[in-house]
Amino acid sequence: MAIDTLCVQAGYTPKNGEPRVMPIVQSTTYKYDSSVEMGKLFDLEASGYFYTRLQNPTNDNVAAKIAALEGGVAAMLTASGQAANFFALFNICSAGDHIVASAAIYGGTFNLLGVTMKRMGIDVTFIDPDDDEDKIAATFRPNTKALFAESIANPALTVLDFEKFARLAHSHGVPLIVDNTFPTPINCRPFEFGVDIVTHSTTKYMDGHASGVGGAIVDSGNFDWTKYPEKYAGLCTPDESYHGVVYTERFGKGAFITKATVQLMRDLGSIQAPQNAFLLNLGLETLHLRMAKHCKNAMEIATRLQKDPRIAWVNYPGLADSPYAPLVEKYMPNGTCGVISFGVKGGRNAATAFMDSLQLAAIVTHVADARTCVLHPASTTHRQMSDEQLEAAKVPADLVRFSVGIEDVEDIWQDIDRALSLACK
Ligand code: PLP
Repeated sequence: MAIDTLCVQAGYTPKNGEPRVMPIVQSTTYKYDSSVEMGKLFDLEASGYFYTRLQNPTNDNVAAKIAALEGGVAAMLTASGQAANFFALFNICSAGDHIVASAAIYGGTFNLLGVTMKRMGIDVTFIDPDDDEDKIAATFRPNTKALFAESIANPALTVLDFEKFARLAHSHGVPLIVDNTFPTPINCRPFEFGVDIVTHSTTKYMDGHASGVGGAIVDSGNFDWTKYPEKYAGLCTPDESYHGVVYTERFGKGAFITKATVQLMRDLGSIQAPQNAFLLNLGLETLHLRMAKHCKNAMEIATRLQKDPRIAWVNYPGLADSPYAPLVEKYMPNGTCGVISFGVKGGRNAATAFMDSLQLAAIVTHVADARTCVLHPASTTHRQMSDEQLEAAKVPADLVRFSVGIEDVEDIWQDIDRALSLACK
């Protein structure tokens, strides 16, 4: 089925007499007739629900929809995008391991990798995603376990050369993990270009209404862990906490998601609330319609900003003269995202004055929902980064991140025009 149909229908198919709309299973637990039956679940000998910290039917339906949208074999929901990225990496990395990651990523993920995971003994090397293949290849080590990047980086808006990154990952025998939050599978399906695992902050376009924090991990099923049984011992050798189950043997292409569910969810929690999964599903039903409108509005606003003498520079990957235009043409020809970044002439102060003068666009710590919103990353989400790190992450101090919503484009422009007039007097 086409992706528009999957947005509306995938994941939940009611049987005769069942609710047409996916129900919220608001239950922490599930009843069984005998201890023997329940015991089998604990040994992973039978499949079924037993405790919502690990799995819940509502969440599983929504995860199945996201798997269908991305073209993956299995998916799981997490409590947040942060949890999704952490689980995707921690599922295959432990103390003593190393990750190669793009420096052009969301500030929270940069912090997760560069501070918190480092404290857990997992080292990271940040690279410029636009660097030559050879230069990036030189950062891999024998203990490197994954290559990580964002398909369109937040807020740098760099576009990933998926095929270059897939070559780098696979020639070093590691999976390529990509956060696909900004384009969503409506505009880009990374598995088609060699990506192995995709993550999402569903908090953004997927939910689309800023009503529920959430995340998702999707596995393409394409990375062959059994080729590197020592490197990925957690997947390829017995797990004593489940009486010696070997995930790759028992679950095949479902090994990665199963391990993350039964080990990481069991031990670390971070399940998405079923209420949030229900809201997320409502958002997914219109994702295809909203993404088209976000992209149309953003293209119009970026084009007008580019011609405006009060604006120092504009970065929108959809623009024909963007340095990323060839990658956009190749990987996301139907659209990129609704997020634009730009500098107001007059630097940091002019940017702040402009933002304070907006009325329709709200200053919020958020991006990518139906309402137009704006943020100054250097003083908020990326505040923990030094000037050098900001440069490396392609987030200069004067950058305004403008998330174009799905309101009428003339109303959005009037708001920008008025605020610029006040800020640039
Ligand atoms: N990945 C990207 C690209 C993001 O933009 C964000 C949040 O802004 C995250 C991950 C983290 O997601 P969450 O806020 O849902 O934890």
